[in-house]
Amino acid sequence: MRIGIGYDVHRLRAGRDLVIGGVNIPFAKGLLGHSDADVLTHAIMDALLGAAGLAYIGHLFPDTDDTFKDARSLDLLRQVKARVDEAGYTIVNIDAVVVAERPKLAPHIPAIKQNLAEALELPAEAVGIKATTTEGLGFEGDGLGMSAHAVALLQEK
Ligand code: MG
Repeated sequence: MRIGIGYDVHRLRAGRDLVIGGVNIPFAKGLLGHSDADVLTHAIMDALLGAAGLAYIGHLFPDTDDTFKDARSLDLLRQVKARVDEAGYTIVNIDAVVVAERPKLAPHIPAIKQNLAEALELPAEAVGIKATTTEGLGFEGDGLGMSAHAVALLQEK
């Protein structure tokens, strides 16, 4: 068994689409980044890569590479899943939390889970996704950005 952790932060900006776990969520602002800035999917990718002992996403998909400009992070997640497979591991489960003051993410969690489970070829019960606020504290509480934490468990094939 191998465990990995991932963490990511993106700023919120007006005029950007808000994409969390591959779901477009209606909101006045979106996350700023070179790709679609899907903070949750980025944290999950780093957890998976870390568990497999592979290079992290900033190295695999650098923001200096135009290939990844406006890239759909869910597609990058599929690439990460393939790399984890190639490295000789199967994914046991992932668990993650998105930290955001607004908008309410709870109604979107089922669709987010389904997207991630499909991309990782996992049953829904192997994908844990939660959302929380920080009760108004810190950059997430001030609405300046969002963060996500993720863990992944792999098993050697
Ligand atoms: Mg990121």
